Amino acid sequence: MESGPLPLDPAAIRRDFPILDQTIHDRFPLVYLDSAASSQRPRQVIDALRDVYERNYANVHRGIHWLSERSTDLFEEARESIQALVGARHAHEIILTSGTTAGVNLVARSWGDANLRPGDEILLTDMEHHSNIVPWQQAAERTGAAVRFLPITDSGELDLEQLDAFLTDRTRLVAVTAVSNVLGTINPIGAIRERADRCGALLFVDGAQSVPHEPTDVQATRADFLAFSGHKMMGPSGVGALYGRETLLDAMPPFLGGGGMIRRVARDRFAPADLPFKFEAGTPPIADAIAMTAACRYLRDVGLERIAAHEQRLARLAHERLAAFDDVAIHGPAPDRKAGIVSFSIDRVHPQDISELLDHRGIAVRAGHHCAMPLHERLGVSASVRASFYAYTTVDEIDRFADGLRSVRETLRRTGSRRAPTAR
Ligand code: PLP
Repeated sequence: MESGPLPLDPAAIRRDFPILDQTIHDRFPLVYLDSAASSQRPRQVIDALRDVYERNYANVHRGIHWLSERSTDLFEEARESIQALVGARHAHEIILTSGTTAGVNLVARSWGDANLRPGDEILLTDMEHHSNIVPWQQAAERTGAAVRFLPITDSGELDLEQLDAFLTDRTRLVAVTAVSNVLGTINPIGAIRERADRCGALLFVDGAQSVPHEPTDVQATRADFLAFSGHKMMGPSGVGALYGRETLLDAMPPFLGGGGMIRRVARDRFAPADLPFKFEAGTPPIADAIAMTAACRYLRDVGLERIAAHEQRLARLAHERLAAFDDVAIHGPAPDRKAGIVSFSIDRVHPQDISELLDHRGIAVRAGHHCAMPLHERLGVSASVRASFYAYTTVDEIDRFADGLRSVRETLRRTGSRRAPTAR
């Protein structure tokens, strides 16, 4: 590992995360390497949540009493915090959702049903999360459009040489993840945007794994849509956001109907509200949304550039440590081209056995297909083990993980994998 100070001090950050300071199985300090599934949240966010319920809670955009107005102001402040985080031009371009999945479904339903025709194409990639596949498949089923998949290279990057061949005059939308939740690959969104421009396709970016970990600027990348989740960015679960370009959102019909999204309702018709409320039917996750202000502030104060540099450094270290094991195959590109996500397989060993034995040592990783079955099929395995990092992950934890893996491999060599191995 290169010398020099760490770009940020994870030990100081950890003091804000009470959950990380605990002993597992009465013996081992918790080593939480599952932040790609869901991050932990700092005391500031927990305090913000408590503060809403203790002092500021009422329904939003409904009452004209003092408490409702206060709650509404805080709710709209959260929208502005998210707007600033992703560089959106207008606050009303931020739709508060329940998470990334809801954002994809909103666009697939609303924009998709209104715009897709038989013969049209939606271009996805072979490294998408199911949340950025299934809603488009459903839209294709409803409209007669087709879903295509840009392949990846053997090194786990998008095969950009094939991109122009996949972008045709039938391509209406490209939906791509900014960072793969399995490979950690950081995708060149700006370059994809330029190529999509040539055929007039819209660009939908799945930001679930990028917005929490690196600076985002929707105006610089000219993304048409960007979806992400609060629970992966130190915020509460149950809340997320969809950014959409104003002109597109304005032209789109509402997705869910109900209270809050209308201007007027008669027995035979309704008139939708303006943005962003047109897409926010029903009572939103009020307290969770308000606490997003604290999460955005925390990320801003630590600095997303520093977080990205820190995680890349940890990924490099993890690669170095795992390279010492000749039966471990890391999926995805070299660490200088990936985020803080390291997935791997061990020859003839089921990933769940590895995860279970690591857990016996207090180390939390994820085993499975990580909601990316087509990607695992491409990798030639049905599942993998994933270690994922965040600002609070320490070098010591990477060492504990590598040491744990060494002894897990020794145990499994003696006892054999309990579950059927996953290799092809
Ligand atoms: N997209 C990616 C790349 C993800 O990693 C995830 C979650 O793991 C999702 C979408 C879905 O996010 P959520 O379950 O918060 O809607």
